[in-house]
Amino acid sequence: MRMNIALVKGDGIGPEIVDSAVQVLETVAARCGHSFAFTEVLAGGCAIDAVGIPLPKETVDICLQSDSVLLGAVGGPKWDGLPGGNRPEKALLGLRSAMGLYTNLRPARLYPALKDECPLRADIVEKGFDLLMVRELTGGIYFGDRGRREGKYGPEAYDTEAYSVMEVERIARAAFEAARKRGKKVTSIDKANVLETSRLWRETVHRIGANYPDVELQDMLVDNAAMQLVRNPSSFDVVVTSNMFGDILSDEASQISGSIGLLPSASLGDGRRGLYEPIHGSAPDIAGQNKANPLATILSAAMMLRYAFDLEDEARMIERAVDKALEDGCRTADIARGEGVKALSCTEMTAAVIERL
Ligand code: NAD
Repeated sequence: MRMNIALVKGDGIGPEIVDSAVQVLETVAARCGHSFAFTEVLAGGCAIDAVGIPLPKETVDICLQSDSVLLGAVGGPKWDGLPGGNRPEKALLGLRSAMGLYTNLRPARLYPALKDECPLRADIVEKGFDLLMVRELTGGIYFGDRGRREGKYGPEAYDTEAYSVMEVERIARAAFEAARKRGKKVTSIDKANVLETSRLWRETVHRIGANYPDVELQDMLVDNAAMQLVRNPSSFDVVVTSNMFGDILSDEASQISGSIGLLPSASLGDGRRGLYEPIHGSAPDIAGQNKANPLATILSAAMMLRYAFDLEDEARMIERAVDKALEDGCRTADIARGEGVKALSCTEMTAAVIERL
């Protein structure tokens, strides 16, 4: 298989971790007879420095022409003082919207080798967990009308949440399809006891769910979901929720997995092309020191092989190599705890994964 992959290395640790994932992809390609061509493009703070804007048109064009996009992270203190419209993070929203990516998949699981990293009680850790968060990515309150105005008690600010039936239908379908390939259970999270958007969300998810009789559907209020994620995470399989609830709950899920440096994500639209990136940011505090954990980006590359190229065996090959490296005690600084545990550098951890492919 010949594929063109756009690389958005971005800022901070972005270039280090993307280089790691590229080495892994090149090894898989060589072993399995594929050919991946990589094109590097600028986005984020490095694009502001080079051409004055966070998302140059050339970057969007190349991403749209590629078969898939692998992204490191954007942003950092150097660009924090810039106005909202010209901040590095604008590049992410711009790319998602240009590529029509409305589904964000964030798997979170407990690696048996990292049980000690989990902040939950031993009896909960014992049961383990393996869930997939499906977050709506281009609608809801993050994209609604907002502003400042004069209110009853003086100046006030407002944000609005709107969801169309179409937006809920397509994310619900994505969740049910994903559940069919996993544990056949969807938990739909909303705040239907208060919000009208949530009531529309709930009735729409149920209507779509009727087409998936083999998948169990459960509703849960978001406040309860926040509790259940730390009390009983093994009860979840696929979780589907709105943009803001998903933003918050997926970070909670990342913390019970051990480290933010472990969690990959995929952003998908209607076509196969998607954007694959770790869920963490550019980690400016460790950038350029060869200390970053590359596993979240390597696992994002595995998701790319699975979802963009339908290369399930190759995706599993990478995931198994990561499992094996962790089982063998390989640790980067963020997950190296206890006496005598040596922290590997980013390049050493990458080599450890490649050795086990
Ligand atoms: P962050 O995720 O970059 O870092 C939080 C903490 O986790 C830091 O201590 C960092 O060292 C650590 N960390 C993160 N990734 C790691 C890895 N792979 N290995 C080891 N440790 C890791 O979040 P932040 O500090 O809030 O944000 C830093 C910058 O990143 C900001 O400019 C923010 O806007 C940006 N950001 C970008 C994205 C993205 O590009 N998708 C996402 C979140 C934040």
